[in-house]
Amino acid sequence: MATAADFSLGKVDVAMTPRERFAEFLQARGKRITRQRQMIVEHVSSHNEHFDAEQLLEGLRKTSHGARASRPTVYRTLTEMVDAGLLKKMVLGGRAVYEHDYGYPQHDHLHCTSCQQLIEFSSDELLRIRNAVAGQHQFRAQGHRLIITGICADCRSNRSKSRHQDRV
Ligand SMILES: [Zn+2]
Ligand SMILES: [Zn+2]
Repeated sequence: MATAADFSLGKVDVAMTPRERFAEFLQARGKRITRQRQMIVEHVSSHNEHFDAEQLLEGLRKTSHGARASRPTVYRTLTEMVDAGLLKKMVLGGRAVYEHDYGYPQHDHLHCTSCQQLIEFSSDELLRIRNAVAGQHQFRAQGHRLIITGICADCRSNRSKSRHQDRV
């Protein structure tokens, strides 16, 4: 399930638009930015959500220009966008979930294993700990991934409500 987000962590200034960056990446590999690829990049860039390939395909097919998007093209383009540094891929409960990376600040996630909601956060304290741990190993940290799994507030209150009803 995609969680609606509104660039709540702000944006990072970047020199190129995602489409320009993608075109450059493809060009360096002797590939062209085809209409289909272009349409996918633009669609993804205009939404800030966590999504999987099937949700993207569904979303594309609802648009006039994406009505004929093919599944293999969507999967291939997603992989290319990850390689180009535009998207980040996470695997949550066996499902590949993508999100923006280019122009979006470093952040971590809370993942509700009940409703699959992803909550984003960023913590300076966490970065300090990361860098201190890396330093202890003479290691220079460039990035990290932290996904805290558990049950979100909504699901917890639904659960306690249903437990309460069971007793009544
Ligand atoms: Zn939940
Ligand atoms: Zn995120």
